[in-house]
Amino acid sequence: MAEFAKLPAFDPADPLGLDDQLDAEDLAIRDTVRTWAADRVLPHVAGWFEEGELPDIRGLARELGGIGALGMSLTGYGCAGASAVQYGLACLELEAADSGIRSLVSVQGSLAMYAIHSFGSEEQKQHWLPRMASGDVIGCFGLTEPDHGSDPAGMRTYAKRDGSGGDWVLNGRKMWITNGSVAGVAVVWAQTDDGIRGFVVPTDTPGFSAPEIKHKWSLRASVTSELVLDDVRLPADAVLPEATGLRGPLGCLSHARYGIVWGAMGAARSCFEAAVDYAKTREQFGRPIGGFQLTQAKLADMAVELHKGILLAHHLGRRMDAGRLRPEQVSFGKLNNVREAIDICRTARTILGANGISLEYPVMRHATNLESVLTYEGTVEMHQLVLGKALTGLDAFR
Ligand SMILES: Cc1cc2nc3c(=O)[nH]c(=O)nc-3n(C[C@H](O)[C@H](O)[C@H](O)COP(=O)(O)OP(=O)(O)OC[C@H]3O[C@@H](n4cnc5c(N)ncnc54)[C@H](O)[C@@H]3O)c2cc1C
Repeated sequence: MAEFAKLPAFDPADPLGLDDQLDAEDLAIRDTVRTWAADRVLPHVAGWFEEGELPDIRGLARELGGIGALGMSLTGYGCAGASAVQYGLACLELEAADSGIRSLVSVQGSLAMYAIHSFGSEEQKQHWLPRMASGDVIGCFGLTEPDHGSDPAGMRTYAKRDGSGGDWVLNGRKMWITNGSVAGVAVVWAQTDDGIRGFVVPTDTPGFSAPEIKHKWSLRASVTSELVLDDVRLPADAVLPEATGLRGPLGCLSHARYGIVWGAMGAARSCFEAAVDYAKTREQFGRPIGGFQLTQAKLADMAVELHKGILLAHHLGRRMDAGRLRPEQVSFGKLNNVREAIDICRTARTILGANGISLEYPVMRHATNLESVLTYEGTVEMHQLVLGKALTGLDAFR
């Protein structure tokens, strides 16, 4: 070990020295996204959350497109072609502001755009991706149905061939769809006579509607909707040609889950920072509560889990950049990081005492947001079952 005096100073913001692994471009991208979130989200997000709305979502989407955050790790078609680590850093900074903003970006880039980029025809890519990368068109991704969440194989939405031109006619309902009622294009997964296929649906197609879901107590600064498909007629070339079966949507979900591995640590970081600040200034029994051993134990445990989680995200990012990231490894990351992030937020809430439940501080907002993040993109139990199967070779899903 090097002589103690020659070691770099301990940095409370980066105790494991992970920034050493980032190059100048990584740091510049992180700073750009952090600055954007500080200017455009943080001053307003508590109000948006309280009102349960995301006003001017189209303006925000264009700004996110302007900083290259939409479809960020995709190449061509106006996308930034960033590395997986760079995309992860952006997700962390966005979710440190609010999980709703990160959800907007994840659904746009990792679900809707990723589906078209990976499985679409050249015409579909040319038509949709540049306008989605710029934020001019918002996308959504319809997989979940009222009666089929964790088990999408049984979905009821059906696409039938009709007429001599080979048109498709879609009928069914999707539920809990992020960006649904503000989307210009929906990627919709449906049963066909040949198994599950994906469809690119312009949302102004007759028979398509997307009523917004209200009364959520989580992800309140995010648009969530039903999709209603009532005899939606699409041309033959609306199908994603390269996606057959569940392999298509599951590939998209794996990409989006990877972003969540990073993002959840952003919410946790925000709560941790709020707790440290509060602990240093709030006095009880004549001194700052941060001076009590019990508070320090909480802060130390939070810091350990926070930076272990970020370390795990870095590791998975490097594997993704090397083309070596397996879906089971993404499940490992999503299971651990969302669970630990919630725990960090709840502990932060205890340190803030009664103020912990106030929207004056970000803690309760993040904690309730993470309840959705725990459920979407595969629940805790689904990721436990993925890992359980990988560890034992035994399928316990049914
Ligand atoms: C805010 C928000 C945004 C969302 N955005 C989207 C979106 O954009 N697109 C989209 O398609 N979906 C979206 N979803 C839906 C989300 O993906 C589903 O909610 C999720 O897959 C779980 O499905 P479910 O809610 O139907 O729960 P269920 O599948 O009914 O599960 C209920 C409980 O049973 C457990 N369970 C189920 N099966 C098993 C089993 N075999 N063994 C043990 N336990 C089991 C689950 O883990 C869970 O705890 C969103 C959800 C939310 C809350």
